[in-house]
Amino acid sequence: MPARVLDGTSIAHQIRAEIGPAVAAFAGRSGRPPGLGIVLVGDNPASEIYVRNKLSAAGDAGFRADLSRLQATASLAELLETVERLNRSEAHDGILVQSPLPDQMGRDAERRVFDAIRPDKDVDGFHPINVGRLVQNRATLVAATPSGIIELLERSNVAIAGARAVVVGRSDIVGKPIALLLLHRNATVTVCHSRTPDLPCIAADADVLVVAIGRPAFVTKDFVKPGATVIDVGVNRLVDLAQVERIFAPGSKGRQNFERRGSVLVGDVHPDVAEVAGALTPVPGGVGPLTIAMLLKNTLRAAVERAGQAG
Ligand code: NAP
Repeated sequence: MPARVLDGTSIAHQIRAEIGPAVAAFAGRSGRPPGLGIVLVGDNPASEIYVRNKLSAAGDAGFRADLSRLQATASLAELLETVERLNRSEAHDGILVQSPLPDQMGRDAERRVFDAIRPDKDVDGFHPINVGRLVQNRATLVAATPSGIIELLERSNVAIAGARAVVVGRSDIVGKPIALLLLHRNATVTVCHSRTPDLPCIAADADVLVVAIGRPAFVTKDFVKPGATVIDVGVNRLVDLAQVERIFAPGSKGRQNFERRGSVLVGDVHPDVAEVAGALTPVPGGVGPLTIAMLLKNTLRAAVERAGQAG
């Protein structure tokens, strides 16, 4: 039986519909909508799309959302000044600096910028204070993608407590925080990475397998226990026909999309995994839409807490 599809788009709609009344109530009490300040440096095409989607989702949900744009040649000092302005702004409850930053800003630029954002406006949940609070399982702003995964699992009635969870990938923005969130919900968690030996064997022990590595269709059927829930975080754009042919069967939706558009998105999980998994997130339409919904939820939460209001 093919895997149940975990429909991130419809769960994200639900979440956005739920926060609508709370956004209106905040605006009624405060005389202003909750505000999100997004900073985009340079003109990375993928970042342009992500930022446009975030701005329009925020606008649709009744938030104030502003974009501060800096040239690709901007200095780190200029970027830090922009962050400082948003830190001081009364109208902005959440600040998001879109990554990646241009290489010319230096290797540790991202870390320095995330460190400069006020923790109570850090709606990406990347500030070390918020990460530390997450480690200790205290209430905090948590990174949007991993908290979206938890919403997806819980709202799809996937058991987390007592489950064996394997997380493939150990990035600060997905792998580590999702491992902590699963652990706090009483899963037994193993984290794998590029130096893990026998990865397929470890993954095949998982009841819940989360994959966030950025390698197209890397996880194949032999990594997956029959009936497991598989969360595919990866988003990889394929433009090479030979690669597309290796992954998508003739006549499949992926092949058709490629033939129509000249490119196709694929996750880190091979489409054939649907033949063995019990439940699986699609790419696109799985984890991605939840990331934006959780960003809005975080911004509302930051606004309510900054205003000292009950939620
Ligand atoms: P990242 O920072 O590049 O981290 C990749 C992780 O994967 C690293 O821990 C790396 O291990 C591990 N890895 C790489 N190759 C591996 C292999 N062959 N076997 C096992 N582990 C391997 O990536 P990220 O930012 O977490 O993103 C991962 C993917 O998720 C990307 O495709 C990204 O586009 C996508 N993403 C999607 C969303 C969304 O909203 N849908 C949000 C964020 C990210 P080492 O630590 O050993 O190098």
